[in-house]
Amino acid sequence: QATFVDLKETELHAHLNGSVSIETMDKLIARKPHLNIESSRTAIHGGQHRTLSECFKVFKVIHQLVDSEEDILMVAKSVIEEFAADGVKYLELRSTPREETKTGLSKRRYIETVLEAIHQCKQEEVDIDVRFLVAVDRRNGPEVAMETVKLAEDFMLSSDGLVVGLDLSGDPTVGHGKDLLPALQRARNCGLKLALHMSEVPSQKEESELLLDLPPDRIGHGTFLHPEAGGSDSLVDKICKLNIPLELCLTSNVKGQTVPSYDKHHFQYWYGRQHPCVLCTDDKGVFCTDLSQEYHLAASTFGLTQDAVWSLSQQAIQCSFAPESVKQKLEQRWAELRPHVL
Ligand code: 5GP
Repeated sequence: QATFVDLKETELHAHLNGSVSIETMDKLIARKPHLNIESSRTAIHGGQHRTLSECFKVFKVIHQLVDSEEDILMVAKSVIEEFAADGVKYLELRSTPREETKTGLSKRRYIETVLEAIHQCKQEEVDIDVRFLVAVDRRNGPEVAMETVKLAEDFMLSSDGLVVGLDLSGDPTVGHGKDLLPALQRARNCGLKLALHMSEVPSQKEESELLLDLPPDRIGHGTFLHPEAGGSDSLVDKICKLNIPLELCLTSNVKGQTVPSYDKHHFQYWYGRQHPCVLCTDDKGVFCTDLSQEYHLAASTFGLTQDAVWSLSQQAIQCSFAPESVKQKLEQRWAELRPHVL
């Protein structure tokens, strides 16, 4: 008998290195005792909160621990297995390809290793369909962004449908999206789907106007897009007109203090407008959550019925970048489960 917790099957916003569990992190720490990193520095536990800039420091610590092909393979496989164990059937992972001179890791090899992890999980019959978005870290500027897009383009053509899109992320207080437009435009023109972090901090209104003209296929966070949060009616109108889904990550936003409390989360605004919203984890390792917990949180905070949670999870399938045939299969699997939970 399926339960309420089973009502989620699609995770669309998960950063690889932010999704590493405490157990895997402990293995990495044991592998690299010389770094002298305590596990308390790699996750934000219980009722703890951090500023957004402190969160970005956590990623730097994790990157020190995950810097070789061997690490990436282990991390990617364990993250995929953990999402599957939580009942996720379709996962879009995203990660910023890194070059590490110390271990001889190249950006191309980085992506190949993540794809190898996906293949190995498939061979081992882990019950989950995984796709990959290549991430552009805005802190690295326009040249690196263009280089990353070209790499993503190559993999889109050669990865048998595993690389489906491009993510724009990284510290939102650094750099300006206008400098990245040529790279993002190129990605769009070559057929990569765009999932862009937008208006995570209040100062990004002008940037969001520009990015919306691309337009993106999905928006990450979008915390400050609506007028009550300092955004504007024109931003909201554009997003609604284009029907661009929002990827919403409750725990991440509250722990990262861009949202003051769960009941003030902008889920309420967009959901109230019947706009497509997808609940996601963002960084399940760093923020100590999983997708079941995010669905529970949304349901308990906003009083969602079982039916409403069902519709949310079903809508997420349509917001994915999966090919139509995969969406249909997921829909069918979901429909078969429905009589058992409702
Ligand atoms: P990675 O790309 O190394 O697999 O995952 C960690 C990276 O994802 C971080 O260094 C950062 O660039 C990006 N990231 C993770 N969570 C967030 C978030 O909440 N907001 C933004 N803008 N970027 C994030």
